[in-house]
Amino acid sequence: MTDPFDERDRAFPVLRMVTDAAGPYLESLSSRPVHDGGADALIGELEGPLPERGEGARAAVERLLRVGTQAATHSSGPRFFHFVVGGATPAAMAGDWATSLLDQVAGLWLASPLASRLETTVLEWLKDLFGLPASFGGVLTPSATLAHVTGLAAARSWWAERHGVDVSAHGLAGLPPMPVFSSGLVHASTRKALQILGCGRDTLRVFARDDAGRVDLAAMDEALAAVEGRAVIVANLGEVNTGDSDPIEALADLAERHGAWLHVDGAFGMFAALSPRTAHLARGVERADSVTADGHKWLNVPYDTGFSFVRDRGRLRQAFGAWGAAYLESAPADEERIDYNTLGPESSRRARALPIWATLRAYGRDGYRAMVERHLDVAAHLGKLVDSAPDLELMAPVQLCVVCFRYRPPGVPEDRLNELNARLGEALLADGRVYAGTSSYRGMTVFRPALVNWRTTKGDAELLVDVVRELGARLAPPSS
Ligand SMILES: *Cc1c(COP(=O)(O)O)cnc(C)c1O
Repeated sequence: MTDPFDERDRAFPVLRMVTDAAGPYLESLSSRPVHDGGADALIGELEGPLPERGEGARAAVERLLRVGTQAATHSSGPRFFHFVVGGATPAAMAGDWATSLLDQVAGLWLASPLASRLETTVLEWLKDLFGLPASFGGVLTPSATLAHVTGLAAARSWWAERHGVDVSAHGLAGLPPMPVFSSGLVHASTRKALQILGCGRDTLRVFARDDAGRVDLAAMDEALAAVEGRAVIVANLGEVNTGDSDPIEALADLAERHGAWLHVDGAFGMFAALSPRTAHLARGVERADSVTADGHKWLNVPYDTGFSFVRDRGRLRQAFGAWGAAYLESAPADEERIDYNTLGPESSRRARALPIWATLRAYGRDGYRAMVERHLDVAAHLGKLVDSAPDLELMAPVQLCVVCFRYRPPGVPEDRLNELNARLGEALLADGRVYAGTSSYRGMTVFRPALVNWRTTKGDAELLVDVVRELGARLAPPSS
Protein backbone atom coordinates (compact mmCIF):
# COMPACT_ATOMS: atom_id res chain seq x y z
CA MET A 1 0.00 0.00 0.00
CA THR A 2 1.14 3.51 -0.74
CA ASP A 3 -0.73 6.04 1.37
CA PRO A 4 0.10 9.62 0.26
CA PHE A 5 0.67 10.39 3.93
CA ASP A 6 3.74 8.12 3.87
CA GLU A 7 5.23 10.33 1.14
CA ARG A 8 4.68 13.63 2.95
CA ASP A 9 8.41 14.35 3.08
CA ARG A 10 9.04 13.27 -0.49
CA ALA A 11 7.14 15.97 -2.39
CA PHE A 12 10.22 18.00 -3.17
CA PRO A 13 12.33 15.20 -4.71
CA VAL A 14 9.37 14.35 -6.94
CA LEU A 15 9.00 17.96 -8.07
CA ARG A 16 12.71 18.01 -8.74
CA MET A 17 12.14 15.24 -11.30
CA VAL A 18 9.91 17.67 -13.18
CA THR A 19 12.44 20.50 -13.14
CA ASP A 20 15.17 18.06 -14.23
CA ALA A 21 13.04 17.04 -17.20
CA ALA A 22 12.11 20.64 -18.00
CA GLY A 23 15.60 21.77 -19.05
CA PRO A 24 16.18 19.26 -21.86
CA TYR A 25 12.52 19.42 -22.93
CA LEU A 26 12.43 23.20 -23.27
CA GLU A 27 15.78 23.22 -25.05
CA SER A 28 14.53 20.66 -27.55
CA LEU A 29 11.44 22.67 -28.52
CA SER A 30 13.20 24.99 -30.95
CA SER A 31 14.51 22.18 -33.14
CA ARG A 32 12.34 19.11 -32.70
CA PRO A 33 9.32 18.29 -34.89
CA VAL A 34 5.85 19.02 -33.55
CA HIS A 35 5.35 15.32 -32.82
CA ASP A 36 7.60 12.28 -32.49
CA GLY A 37 6.78 8.96 -34.09
CA GLY A 38 5.35 6.13 -32.00
CA ALA A 39 3.24 8.24 -29.66
CA ASP A 40 0.35 5.77 -29.82
CA ALA A 41 2.39 2.89 -28.41
CA LEU A 42 3.97 5.11 -25.78
CA ILE A 43 0.66 6.48 -24.54
CA GLY A 44 -0.47 2.87 -24.21
CA GLU A 45 2.06 2.51 -21.39
CA LEU A 46 -0.06 4.91 -19.34
CA GLU A 47 -3.34 3.10 -19.93
CA GLY A 48 -4.74 -0.09 -18.43
CA PRO A 49 -6.80 -0.82 -15.32
CA LEU A 50 -6.77 1.19 -12.10
CA PRO A 51 -3.80 -0.04 -10.03
CA GLU A 52 -4.80 -1.91 -6.86
CA ARG A 53 -1.40 -1.16 -5.33
CA GLY A 54 0.14 2.21 -5.97
CA GLU A 55 3.69 2.23 -7.33
CA GLY A 56 4.65 5.36 -5.41
CA ALA A 57 5.11 8.94 -6.57
CA ARG A 58 8.64 8.51 -7.88
CA ALA A 59 7.78 5.62 -10.20
CA ALA A 60 4.49 7.17 -11.36
CA VAL A 61 5.99 10.57 -12.10
CA GLU A 62 9.01 9.02 -13.82
CA ARG A 63 6.65 7.12 -16.13
CA LEU A 64 4.54 10.22 -16.83
CA LEU A 65 7.57 12.35 -17.66
CA ARG A 66 9.27 9.70 -19.80
CA VAL A 67 6.13 9.12 -21.90
CA GLY A 68 4.85 12.69 -21.73
CA THR A 69 7.98 14.41 -22.99
CA GLN A 70 7.92 12.15 -26.06
CA ALA A 71 4.23 11.56 -26.70
CA ALA A 72 3.03 15.12 -26.11
CA THR A 73 2.22 17.25 -29.12
CA HIS A 74 4.99 19.80 -28.86
CA SER A 75 2.54 22.59 -29.53
CA SER A 76 4.28 24.99 -27.16
CA GLY A 77 7.20 25.08 -29.62
CA PRO A 78 7.57 27.61 -32.44
CA ARG A 79 6.12 25.67 -35.39
CA PHE A 80 2.64 24.67 -34.26
CA PHE A 81 0.64 26.90 -36.62
CA HIS A 82 -2.66 25.00 -36.58
CA PHE A 83 -5.73 26.62 -34.96
CA VAL A 84 -4.57 29.62 -32.88
CA VAL A 85 -2.28 28.18 -30.24
CA GLY A 86 0.10 30.17 -28.07
CA GLY A 87 3.02 28.88 -26.03
CA ALA A 88 4.01 29.78 -22.50
CA THR A 89 6.60 32.48 -21.83
CA PRO A 90 9.26 31.55 -19.26
CA ALA A 91 7.70 33.85 -16.66
CA ALA A 92 4.17 32.60 -17.40
CA MET A 93 5.23 28.98 -17.07
CA ALA A 94 7.01 29.69 -13.78
CA GLY A 95 3.90 31.55 -12.62
CA ASP A 96 1.83 28.51 -13.52
CA TRP A 97 4.12 26.20 -11.54
CA ALA A 98 3.87 28.63 -8.62
CA THR A 99 0.09 28.40 -8.94
CA SER A 100 0.30 24.63 -8.49
CA LEU A 101 2.77 24.98 -5.63
CA LEU A 102 0.50 27.37 -3.72
CA ASP A 103 -2.72 25.57 -4.75
CA GLN A 104 -5.02 28.49 -3.98
CA VAL A 105 -8.77 28.21 -4.38
CA ALA A 106 -9.52 31.45 -6.11
CA GLY A 107 -13.28 31.84 -5.84
CA LEU A 108 -13.67 33.40 -2.40
CA TRP A 109 -11.68 36.34 -1.06
CA LEU A 110 -11.64 34.71 2.36
CA ALA A 111 -10.03 31.56 0.98
CA SER A 112 -7.23 33.49 -0.75
CA PRO A 113 -6.85 37.26 -0.58
CA LEU A 114 -3.67 36.72 -2.62
CA ALA A 115 -5.55 35.17 -5.53
CA SER A 116 -8.41 37.66 -5.35
CA ARG A 117 -6.20 40.74 -5.22
CA LEU A 118 -3.93 39.50 -8.01
CA GLU A 119 -7.00 38.80 -10.15
CA THR A 120 -8.11 42.39 -9.59
CA THR A 121 -4.60 43.61 -10.42
CA VAL A 122 -4.19 41.64 -13.64
CA LEU A 123 -7.68 42.60 -14.83
CA GLU A 124 -6.71 46.27 -14.34
CA TRP A 125 -3.47 45.68 -16.25
CA LEU A 126 -5.25 43.89 -19.09
CA LYS A 127 -7.85 46.66 -19.46
CA ASP A 128 -4.98 49.14 -19.65
CA LEU A 129 -3.14 46.99 -22.22
CA PHE A 130 -6.28 46.61 -24.37
CA GLY A 131 -7.42 50.23 -24.06
CA LEU A 132 -10.63 49.35 -22.20
CA PRO A 133 -12.09 51.78 -19.64
CA ALA A 134 -10.81 51.15 -16.10
CA SER A 135 -14.42 51.23 -14.91
CA PHE A 136 -15.26 47.93 -16.68
CA GLY A 137 -15.86 44.88 -14.50
CA GLY A 138 -14.08 41.66 -15.35
CA VAL A 139 -13.32 38.08 -14.43
CA LEU A 140 -10.80 35.45 -15.50
CA THR A 141 -12.29 32.43 -17.24
CA PRO A 142 -10.84 29.12 -18.48
CA SER A 143 -11.19 30.14 -22.14
CA ALA A 144 -12.71 32.53 -24.65
CA THR A 145 -15.69 30.21 -24.94
CA LEU A 146 -16.39 30.58 -21.23
CA ALA A 147 -15.73 34.32 -21.53
CA HIS A 148 -18.49 34.37 -24.17
CA VAL A 149 -20.75 32.50 -21.75
CA THR A 150 -19.91 35.14 -19.14
CA GLY A 151 -20.41 38.22 -21.32
CA LEU A 152 -23.48 36.83 -23.09
CA ALA A 153 -25.03 35.78 -19.76
CA ALA A 154 -24.70 39.42 -18.70
CA ALA A 155 -26.32 40.41 -22.01
CA ARG A 156 -29.10 37.88 -21.43
CA SER A 157 -29.86 39.36 -17.98
CA TRP A 158 -30.00 42.84 -19.50
CA TRP A 159 -32.24 41.67 -22.32
CA ALA A 160 -34.62 39.67 -20.10
CA GLU A 161 -34.94 42.67 -17.77
CA ARG A 162 -36.20 44.67 -20.72
CA HIS A 163 -38.96 42.06 -20.98
CA GLY A 164 -39.64 42.41 -17.25
CA VAL A 165 -38.04 39.06 -16.33
CA ASP A 166 -35.27 38.25 -13.83
CA VAL A 167 -33.71 35.44 -15.83
CA SER A 168 -31.33 34.38 -13.02
CA ALA A 169 -34.29 33.64 -10.78
CA HIS A 170 -36.94 32.50 -13.24
CA GLY A 171 -35.19 31.33 -16.41
CA LEU A 172 -36.12 31.92 -20.02
CA ALA A 173 -39.56 30.27 -20.03
CA GLY A 174 -42.17 32.47 -21.71
CA LEU A 175 -39.64 34.80 -23.33
CA PRO A 176 -39.21 35.13 -27.09
CA PRO A 177 -35.83 34.12 -28.57
CA MET A 178 -33.07 36.65 -27.80
CA PRO A 179 -32.08 38.35 -31.10
CA VAL A 180 -28.32 37.98 -31.64
CA PHE A 181 -26.82 39.53 -34.79
CA SER A 182 -23.32 39.12 -36.19
CA SER A 183 -21.32 39.01 -39.41
CA GLY A 184 -20.00 35.96 -41.23
CA LEU A 185 -16.78 36.31 -39.24
CA VAL A 186 -18.49 34.93 -36.14
CA HIS A 187 -16.60 32.10 -34.40
CA ALA A 188 -18.26 28.77 -33.58
CA SER A 189 -17.69 29.39 -29.87
CA THR A 190 -20.24 32.22 -29.88
CA ARG A 191 -22.87 29.76 -31.04
CA LYS A 192 -21.68 27.28 -28.42
CA ALA A 193 -22.08 29.93 -25.69
CA LEU A 194 -25.62 30.69 -26.88
CA GLN A 195 -26.35 26.98 -26.86
CA ILE A 196 -25.08 26.65 -23.27
CA LEU A 197 -27.09 29.68 -22.15
CA GLY A 198 -30.37 28.30 -23.45
CA CYS A 199 -30.60 31.00 -26.09
CA GLY A 200 -30.12 28.47 -28.87
CA ARG A 201 -27.21 28.49 -31.27
CA ASP A 202 -29.43 28.81 -34.34
CA THR A 203 -31.02 32.06 -33.14
CA LEU A 204 -27.82 33.83 -34.19
CA ARG A 205 -28.45 35.73 -37.43
CA VAL A 206 -25.58 36.44 -39.80
CA PHE A 207 -25.60 39.62 -41.89
CA ALA A 208 -22.98 39.17 -44.62
CA ARG A 209 -22.60 41.03 -47.88
CA ASP A 210 -20.09 38.66 -49.49
CA ASP A 211 -18.82 35.10 -49.28
CA ALA A 212 -15.89 36.23 -47.08
CA GLY A 213 -18.53 37.03 -44.45
CA ARG A 214 -18.00 40.79 -44.25
CA VAL A 215 -20.82 42.50 -42.42
CA ASP A 216 -23.85 43.93 -44.20
CA LEU A 217 -24.38 47.01 -42.04
CA ALA A 218 -27.49 48.24 -43.87
CA ALA A 219 -29.32 44.93 -43.46
CA MET A 220 -28.33 44.71 -39.81
CA ASP A 221 -29.46 48.29 -39.26
CA GLU A 222 -32.87 47.42 -40.65
CA ALA A 223 -33.20 44.28 -38.54
CA LEU A 224 -32.17 46.18 -35.41
CA ALA A 225 -34.90 48.75 -36.01
CA ALA A 226 -37.46 45.94 -35.79
CA VAL A 227 -36.28 44.89 -32.30
CA GLU A 228 -35.38 48.34 -30.98
CA GLY A 229 -33.54 48.23 -27.64
CA ARG A 230 -33.72 44.45 -27.39
CA ALA A 231 -30.92 42.87 -29.41
CA VAL A 232 -27.33 41.75 -29.01
CA ILE A 233 -24.66 42.48 -31.62
CA VAL A 234 -21.56 40.28 -31.72
CA ALA A 235 -18.57 42.04 -33.31
CA ASN A 236 -15.55 39.98 -34.30
CA LEU A 237 -12.03 41.24 -33.88
CA GLY A 238 -9.67 38.72 -35.46
CA GLU A 239 -11.23 35.88 -37.45
CA VAL A 240 -9.51 32.50 -37.58
CA ASN A 241 -9.36 31.94 -41.38
CA THR A 242 -7.83 35.25 -42.45
CA GLY A 243 -7.38 37.44 -39.35
CA ASP A 244 -10.10 39.74 -40.71
CA SER A 245 -12.13 41.96 -38.37
CA ASP A 246 -15.55 43.60 -38.36
CA PRO A 247 -15.65 47.41 -38.37
CA ILE A 248 -16.03 47.73 -34.61
CA GLU A 249 -16.74 51.50 -34.66
CA ALA A 250 -19.56 51.08 -37.17
CA LEU A 251 -21.11 48.28 -35.11
CA ALA A 252 -20.74 50.39 -31.95
CA ASP A 253 -22.62 53.18 -33.78
CA LEU A 254 -25.40 50.74 -34.68
CA ALA A 255 -25.59 49.49 -31.10
CA GLU A 256 -25.80 53.04 -29.82
CA ARG A 257 -28.45 54.09 -32.31
CA HIS A 258 -30.67 51.09 -31.59
CA GLY A 259 -29.97 50.59 -27.88
CA ALA A 260 -28.44 47.16 -28.52
CA TRP A 261 -25.88 45.31 -26.39
CA LEU A 262 -22.48 45.13 -28.11
CA HIS A 263 -20.37 42.03 -27.41
CA VAL A 264 -16.87 41.85 -28.94
CA ASP A 265 -15.04 38.57 -29.61
CA GLY A 266 -11.38 39.57 -29.47
CA ALA A 267 -10.06 36.13 -28.52
CA PHE A 268 -6.72 36.84 -30.17
CA GLY A 269 -7.57 39.99 -32.13
CA MET A 270 -7.74 42.09 -28.97
CA PHE A 271 -3.94 42.10 -29.07
CA ALA A 272 -4.13 44.33 -32.16
CA ALA A 273 -4.52 47.12 -29.61
CA LEU A 274 -0.90 46.61 -28.49
CA SER A 275 0.74 47.96 -31.65
CA PRO A 276 0.23 51.34 -33.29
CA ARG A 277 0.39 49.41 -36.57
CA THR A 278 -2.86 47.57 -35.85
CA ALA A 279 -4.54 49.52 -33.04
CA HIS A 280 -7.05 51.01 -35.50
CA LEU A 281 -8.63 47.54 -35.85
CA ALA A 282 -9.54 47.54 -32.17
CA ARG A 283 -10.87 51.07 -32.10
CA GLY A 284 -14.42 51.10 -30.77
CA VAL A 285 -13.92 48.15 -28.42
CA GLU A 286 -13.99 50.62 -25.54
CA ARG A 287 -17.65 51.26 -26.47
CA ALA A 288 -18.64 47.59 -26.07
CA ASP A 289 -20.86 46.25 -23.29
CA SER A 290 -18.90 43.01 -23.04
CA VAL A 291 -15.55 41.87 -24.41
CA THR A 292 -13.96 38.43 -24.70
CA ALA A 293 -10.23 37.74 -24.99
CA ASP A 294 -7.98 34.71 -24.56
CA GLY A 295 -4.88 34.32 -22.41
CA HIS A 296 -3.64 31.02 -23.82
CA LYS A 297 -3.32 32.40 -27.35
CA TRP A 298 -1.47 35.67 -27.92
CA LEU A 299 -0.67 36.41 -24.28
CA ASN A 300 1.27 33.12 -24.19
CA VAL A 301 0.22 31.94 -20.74
CA PRO A 302 -0.27 28.18 -20.31
CA TYR A 303 -3.68 26.59 -20.79
CA ASP A 304 -6.20 27.49 -19.65
CA THR A 305 -7.01 31.19 -19.44
CA GLY A 306 -9.52 33.65 -20.89
CA PHE A 307 -10.88 37.04 -19.87
CA SER A 308 -14.34 38.54 -19.80
CA PHE A 309 -14.84 42.28 -19.39
CA VAL A 310 -18.28 43.81 -18.87
CA ARG A 311 -19.08 47.52 -18.88
CA ASP A 312 -21.71 47.33 -16.14
CA ARG A 313 -19.97 45.38 -13.35
CA GLY A 314 -23.30 44.75 -11.62
CA ARG A 315 -24.43 42.60 -14.55
CA LEU A 316 -21.83 39.94 -13.71
CA ARG A 317 -23.01 39.56 -10.13
CA GLN A 318 -26.60 39.59 -11.37
CA ALA A 319 -25.87 36.70 -13.75
CA PHE A 320 -23.53 34.64 -11.55
CA GLY A 321 -24.01 35.64 -7.89
CA ALA A 322 -26.43 34.82 -5.09
CA TRP A 323 -26.95 31.08 -5.25
CA GLY A 324 -28.48 30.93 -1.77
CA ALA A 325 -25.87 28.75 -0.02
CA ALA A 326 -25.57 30.18 3.49
CA TYR A 327 -21.94 29.16 4.02
CA LEU A 328 -20.85 30.91 0.80
CA GLU A 329 -22.58 34.26 1.33
CA SER A 330 -20.28 37.13 0.56
CA ALA A 331 -20.29 40.74 1.59
CA PRO A 332 -22.58 42.35 -1.01
CA ALA A 333 -20.74 44.29 -3.69
CA ASP A 334 -17.58 44.80 -1.66
CA GLU A 335 -15.21 46.43 -4.13
CA GLU A 336 -12.09 45.49 -2.15
CA ARG A 337 -12.79 41.93 -1.09
CA ILE A 338 -14.03 40.45 -4.33
CA ASP A 339 -15.41 36.91 -4.48
CA TYR A 340 -14.68 36.15 -8.12
CA ASN A 341 -16.88 33.06 -8.03
CA THR A 342 -19.88 35.42 -7.97
CA LEU A 343 -18.74 37.09 -11.20
CA GLY A 344 -18.30 34.09 -13.51
CA PRO A 345 -19.52 30.57 -14.25
CA GLU A 346 -17.07 28.72 -11.99
CA SER A 347 -17.30 28.15 -8.25
CA SER A 348 -14.01 26.64 -7.02
CA ARG A 349 -11.35 27.76 -9.44
CA ARG A 350 -7.63 27.88 -10.18
CA ALA A 351 -5.67 31.05 -9.37
CA ARG A 352 -5.21 31.92 -13.04
CA ALA A 353 -4.04 35.41 -12.15
CA LEU A 354 -0.58 34.24 -11.06
CA PRO A 355 0.92 33.33 -14.46
CA ILE A 356 -0.67 36.43 -16.00
CA TRP A 357 0.79 38.57 -13.26
CA ALA A 358 4.24 36.98 -13.71
CA THR A 359 4.37 37.42 -17.48
CA LEU A 360 3.04 41.01 -17.51
CA ARG A 361 5.39 41.96 -14.68
CA ALA A 362 8.32 40.28 -16.48
CA TYR A 363 7.85 41.73 -19.97
CA GLY A 364 5.54 44.71 -19.54
CA ARG A 365 3.72 46.64 -22.22
CA ASP A 366 6.96 47.07 -24.23
CA GLY A 367 7.84 43.40 -24.30
CA TYR A 368 4.37 42.41 -25.42
CA ARG A 369 4.30 45.10 -28.10
CA ALA A 370 7.65 43.79 -29.38
CA MET A 371 6.30 40.24 -29.49
CA VAL A 372 3.08 41.22 -31.27
CA GLU A 373 5.04 43.27 -33.82
CA ARG A 374 7.45 40.38 -34.42
CA HIS A 375 4.43 38.21 -35.22
CA LEU A 376 3.04 40.87 -37.57
CA ASP A 377 6.43 40.86 -39.33
CA VAL A 378 6.60 37.07 -39.52
CA ALA A 379 3.05 36.97 -40.93
CA ALA A 380 3.89 39.61 -43.54
CA HIS A 381 7.07 37.69 -44.45
CA LEU A 382 5.13 34.46 -44.82
CA GLY A 383 2.58 36.27 -46.99
CA LYS A 384 5.37 37.48 -49.29
CA LEU A 385 6.92 34.02 -49.54
CA VAL A 386 3.54 32.57 -50.46
CA ASP A 387 2.88 35.29 -52.98
CA SER A 388 6.18 34.75 -54.75
CA ALA A 389 6.02 30.93 -54.84
CA PRO A 390 4.73 29.73 -58.23
CA ASP A 391 2.79 26.86 -56.66
CA LEU A 392 1.18 28.73 -53.74
CA GLU A 393 -1.74 31.13 -53.80
CA LEU A 394 -2.46 33.76 -51.16
CA MET A 395 -6.22 33.71 -50.53
CA ALA A 396 -6.65 36.92 -48.55
CA PRO A 397 -4.55 39.92 -47.62
CA VAL A 398 -2.38 39.18 -44.58
CA GLN A 399 -4.12 40.60 -41.52
CA LEU A 400 -2.74 40.44 -38.03
CA CYS A 401 -1.13 37.04 -37.42
CA VAL A 402 -2.98 34.79 -39.89
CA VAL A 403 -1.92 33.88 -43.44
CA CYS A 404 -4.55 32.20 -45.61
CA PHE A 405 -3.23 30.32 -48.65
CA ARG A 406 -3.54 27.15 -50.69
CA TYR A 407 -1.32 24.93 -52.76
CA ARG A 408 -1.91 25.50 -56.45
CA PRO A 409 0.62 23.98 -58.79
CA PRO A 410 0.30 25.06 -62.40
CA GLY A 411 -1.89 22.85 -64.54
CA VAL A 412 -4.16 21.44 -61.82
CA PRO A 413 -7.79 22.31 -62.58
CA GLU A 414 -9.79 24.29 -60.01
CA ASP A 415 -12.12 21.39 -59.26
CA ARG A 416 -9.18 19.22 -58.13
CA LEU A 417 -7.65 21.77 -55.77
CA ASN A 418 -9.79 21.14 -52.68
CA GLU A 419 -8.99 17.45 -52.74
CA LEU A 420 -5.30 18.13 -53.38
CA ASN A 421 -5.07 20.59 -50.49
CA ALA A 422 -6.95 18.24 -48.16
CA ARG A 423 -4.45 15.48 -48.97
CA LEU A 424 -1.56 17.88 -48.51
CA GLY A 425 -3.01 18.91 -45.14
CA GLU A 426 -3.00 15.28 -44.01
CA ALA A 427 0.55 14.79 -45.28
CA LEU A 428 1.70 17.91 -43.44
CA LEU A 429 0.21 16.81 -40.13
CA ALA A 430 1.71 13.33 -40.53
CA ASP A 431 5.13 14.80 -41.39
CA GLY A 432 5.24 16.86 -38.21
CA ARG A 433 8.15 19.20 -38.97
CA VAL A 434 5.62 22.02 -39.06
CA TYR A 435 1.96 21.84 -38.09
CA ALA A 436 -0.74 23.55 -40.11
CA GLY A 437 -4.08 22.00 -40.95
CA THR A 438 -6.72 22.97 -43.44
CA SER A 439 -9.91 24.96 -43.18
CA SER A 440 -12.69 25.91 -45.54
CA TYR A 441 -12.76 29.49 -46.80
CA ARG A 442 -15.25 30.70 -49.43
CA GLY A 443 -15.78 27.09 -50.42
CA MET A 444 -12.07 26.43 -50.87
CA THR A 445 -9.80 24.17 -48.84
CA VAL A 446 -7.01 26.37 -47.50
CA PHE A 447 -4.20 26.52 -44.99
CA ARG A 448 -4.47 29.24 -42.40
CA PRO A 449 -1.40 29.19 -40.18
CA ALA A 450 -1.65 31.50 -37.17
CA LEU A 451 1.55 32.97 -35.72
CA VAL A 452 1.14 33.70 -32.01
CA ASN A 453 3.88 31.69 -30.28
CA TRP A 454 6.51 33.84 -28.53
CA ARG A 455 9.31 31.61 -29.91
CA THR A 456 8.30 31.83 -33.58
CA THR A 457 10.68 33.52 -36.03
CA LYS A 458 10.80 34.19 -39.78
CA GLY A 459 12.93 31.04 -40.14
CA ASP A 460 10.01 28.96 -38.85
CA ALA A 461 7.71 30.52 -41.44
CA GLU A 462 10.28 29.77 -44.15
CA LEU A 463 10.38 26.13 -43.08
CA LEU A 464 6.59 26.00 -43.32
CA VAL A 465 6.73 27.14 -46.95
CA ASP A 466 9.57 24.73 -47.79
CA VAL A 467 7.82 21.73 -46.26
CA VAL A 468 4.45 22.54 -47.85
CA ARG A 469 6.06 22.80 -51.29
CA GLU A 470 8.20 19.69 -50.81
CA LEU A 471 5.26 17.52 -49.72
CA GLY A 472 3.00 19.10 -52.34
CA ALA A 473 5.43 18.25 -55.14
CA ARG A 474 5.30 14.61 -54.06
CA LEU A 475 1.50 14.58 -54.12
CA ALA A 476 0.72 16.69 -57.15
CA PRO A 477 -0.29 14.82 -60.25
CA PRO A 478 2.00 15.59 -63.20
CA SER A 479 0.79 18.68 -65.02
CA SER A 480 -0.57 18.09 -68.49
C1 LIG B 1 -9.96 30.49 -30.20
C2 LIG B 1 -11.10 31.41 -30.43
C3 LIG B 1 -12.26 31.32 -29.64
C4 LIG B 1 -12.46 30.25 -28.61
O1 LIG B 1 -11.44 30.27 -27.67
P1 LIG B 1 -11.23 29.09 -26.63
O2 LIG B 1 -10.21 29.65 -25.72
O3 LIG B 1 -10.74 27.91 -27.42
O4 LIG B 1 -12.52 28.83 -25.97
C5 LIG B 1 -13.26 32.25 -29.88
N1 LIG B 1 -13.14 33.18 -30.82
C6 LIG B 1 -12.05 33.29 -31.60
C7 LIG B 1 -11.98 34.35 -32.64
C8 LIG B 1 -10.98 32.40 -31.43
O5 LIG B 1 -9.89 32.50 -32.19
